[in-house]
Amino acid sequence: MSSDYLTLLFIAIMIVLFIQLIVNYVSSRKQSVEVDVPRKIISKIRCVHGDYETEREYHEGDFVGKIEGACPKCGAELIIDTIYTKYFRQTTQSRK
Ligand SMILES: [Zn+2]
Repeated sequence: MSSDYLTLLFIAIMIVLFIQLIVNYVSSRKQSVEVDVPRKIISKIRCVHGDYETEREYHEGDFVGKIEGACPKCGAELIIDTIYTKYFRQTTQSRK
């Protein structure tokens, strides 16, 4: 009776180890794919009157709706309109 229990426990441990091995393998493959694509976080800044907009690299503390200074055209407030990630693909860019 006790040997049956030990066999069952052994099989259970083997199954858990096997599943862990698969999970580790899949997650390590995913990580290497993500690292290969170069990317930049961009903050898009827009005048509240809509006559001027610019983009710059994201700085720590940026958020949508943050006032970023005065518009060079009309003097109204410039606010951060969008924050997004830009991906750079080197292989397809040089083709025309
Ligand atoms: Zn403006």
